[in-house]
Amino acid sequence: MPTISSRMERIPDSPISEMAHLASRYDVINLAQGFPDFDPPAELIAAAVAALQSGHNQYALTCGSHRFRQALANKQSRFTGLEIDPDHITVTCGGTEAMMSTMHTVCNPGDRVIIFSPFYENYAPDALLCGATPVYVSLDPPDFALDGDELRKAFQQGAKALVLCNPANPSGKVFSLEELQIIASLAQEYDAFVLMDEVYEHIVYAPHHHTYLAALPGMFERTITCGSLSKTYSITGWRLGYTIASPAVTQSIRKVHDYMTVGAPAPLQEAAVTALTLPDAYYNQLQADYTRRRNLFISCLEQAGLPYLCPQGGCFVLADISNLGFNDDRSFCLWLAKEIGVTGVPCSSFFNRPVRHLVRFNFAKRDETLLQAGERLCKIKEKL
Ligand code: GLN
Repeated sequence: MPTISSRMERIPDSPISEMAHLASRYDVINLAQGFPDFDPPAELIAAAVAALQSGHNQYALTCGSHRFRQALANKQSRFTGLEIDPDHITVTCGGTEAMMSTMHTVCNPGDRVIIFSPFYENYAPDALLCGATPVYVSLDPPDFALDGDELRKAFQQGAKALVLCNPANPSGKVFSLEELQIIASLAQEYDAFVLMDEVYEHIVYAPHHHTYLAALPGMFERTITCGSLSKTYSITGWRLGYTIASPAVTQSIRKVHDYMTVGAPAPLQEAAVTALTLPDAYYNQLQADYTRRRNLFISCLEQAGLPYLCPQGGCFVLADISNLGFNDDRSFCLWLAKEIGVTGVPCSSFFNRPVRHLVRFNFAKRDETLLQAGERLCKIKEKL
């Protein structure tokens, strides 16, 4: 038999998918994979039905329909203060394709890519599939503070790009303006791209505040922003993401995108214009709803006696399992799924160093789902 590519030997199975599969096999509440168990706004569903019934069933422009890109350009200009136009935008199949296309656009084989650890699980495979090498910079719990000297050392090794997820998955960290200024000035000094993952831009908890890196002085040209409609509008299954970059970089991203997926779903792009034109009140309500879910879920963790790291943004909380007597987080997660009926993701998969005492739970769920998960988590101590 022929052998598959040697690149694949370095690509691990996705622990998020593994735990989501486990949840689908048993009667398990899936708090592993980050997706809402509630519907998007009713007007989006109506807009999708209308789009399917009114002839939007073939390819859109491969880089994204003009109406969608114009609506997105208006919305992102409004929030970032930048003048973003449709020529800066490529519409992709989720934030996932956005990052993969971006990585292929900027990396040559052998290039180094700085990744903060803990990291969202896609970044290293994205780099490795381009033949690039991840260089990790540690951010340590509980506050995941940035050490500018450590970051400088990583840049000194010769980095082509840095990946930054802000608000961060899985840590829930929202980078401060000062931290972003350090990152921006090092990227400029060492002439590197910053590959921003901003899919949680609208899920930030007071008093924290999201700053768009691309809007810092001198950063637009070297920042490639990967975004998504998945979390902001509760439509993870629609697979609508995008990149925002300078026109020159965008031209190359579009080539990768054309050969990888051709385009994102045309009827859903049409429907999503309704989402992109929602007023500020929508985003304020989103923040309020997520703040309530976060507070509800952390009170469940408190009742279950599980210490946790309180997120500043995003929809994940990290629970600390140090005192439960497990050797590692993966065996805890397997036990939790089978014995308690809840799944989380073992955070060791998000670190490049041995950190085995944290488990990530997603709280983008209906209140009743969170309360039911909470009741189950309260049984952990009696079952041990
Ligand atoms: N972004 C989501 C998460 O972190 C979903 C990703 C996935 O299914 N791989 O859980």
